[in-house]
Amino acid sequence: MTALCPLCGSARHEQIYHQKALPLVSNTVYGTASEAIACAKEPVILHLCRQCGLVFNPSFDSSKIAYDTHYDNRRDSSPRYRRYLDELTTTLKNAYGLTRKNVLEVGCGQGDFLRLFTQVSESSGAGYDPAYQGPEQFGATSFVRAPFVPGRQTTPYNTLILRHVLEHIEQPGLFVQAALDSLVTADDVSVVVEVPCFAWILDAGAYWDIAYEHCNYFTRESLSFLFDQAGIEVMDVQNVFEGQYLLAVGKARQRSRLPHAFCQRPVPQKEFEHALCPKLRTFEQKRASITHQLGQFDQFTIWGVAGKGVTFVNLLDQDQLDKIPFLIDMNPNKQRKYCPGTDKLIVPPSVLAGETQVRVILLMNPIYYDEITEQTNTFGNTYHLLVP
Ligand SMILES: [Zn+2]
Repeated sequence: MTALCPLCGSARHEQIYHQKALPLVSNTVYGTASEAIACAKEPVILHLCRQCGLVFNPSFDSSKIAYDTHYDNRRDSSPRYRRYLDELTTTLKNAYGLTRKNVLEVGCGQGDFLRLFTQVSESSGAGYDPAYQGPEQFGATSFVRAPFVPGRQTTPYNTLILRHVLEHIEQPGLFVQAALDSLVTADDVSVVVEVPCFAWILDAGAYWDIAYEHCNYFTRESLSFLFDQAGIEVMDVQNVFEGQYLLAVGKARQRSRLPHAFCQRPVPQKEFEHALCPKLRTFEQKRASITHQLGQFDQFTIWGVAGKGVTFVNLLDQDQLDKIPFLIDMNPNKQRKYCPGTDKLIVPPSVLAGETQVRVILLMNPIYYDEITEQTNTFGNTYHLLVP
């Protein structure tokens, strides 16, 4: 178990959360129910650092997780998500002047964002991801199916993008510093980071957003601390995606011009002692209210079998699980496969149209409410859509 905070190195951290064993990876599905049930699991433990405010899993072991082509977190089949990528691209281009850049995106997934961004902002770049499965070249942008390993780059990248990466990295601050150190450029480097917002998770009581795969949970303060520590001047940290994510944009000065590579600015105590910790109670309240709600139905299904849905299903009681005939996801690569940790088959939404039992649908992310309502309206039945 890590004795020191992975961001600031402080020994002043304490346990704030403990959850039973959950699947190590949420975005890998299985061909049979027995394989899915037997997937590797570990308890999820969270500590809070009293020096920098980072919330982290001290027993996280990255060597247990394989990010390969079986890992599939694409959401491009959702119009709402595609609209978000459009909004993000516009924000980066118009509000932060990110045009005609040479972009390095680490953890680009299937490259949806990088393709869109480089096209709209007239930029070029490269995306790295061990799960990437598309073509190697898209216009002036190339894709590499491999993890990014910090080391001297031959291309002069001047923009570093890390979307939904730092919550998976054991030493997030050192990782960002190493990535920046490896860029050869005469310019300052723009840095764009997007991570889930821990304050949003607590406000929503969204205990299903806490999974093994995510070893770090950030607030505005701890993300700003990470930027400071890596020598990145914070331009802005804002909530995006209806509050669910934090988007931080900054400028990393040329590495040789940095006065110091390590900053020890403590985060005010009140941030986590008075604001965050009491909110952990919302998890229990939420769980009780969901148990009460689901108790009223004989059958229900869950729409959305990504990180949130997988954790949610794994935390249901057996009598609640018995009421679920199947799970729903729009990602064709997940359909007809089994949800990690369970014997539940994932089916496409269209299955609802042809069956007569399920009328209650739990939506794992409220942001997709409108588009899911639109789809279910075409199935010829009346559904009760619930947002946990
Ligand atoms: Zn710390």
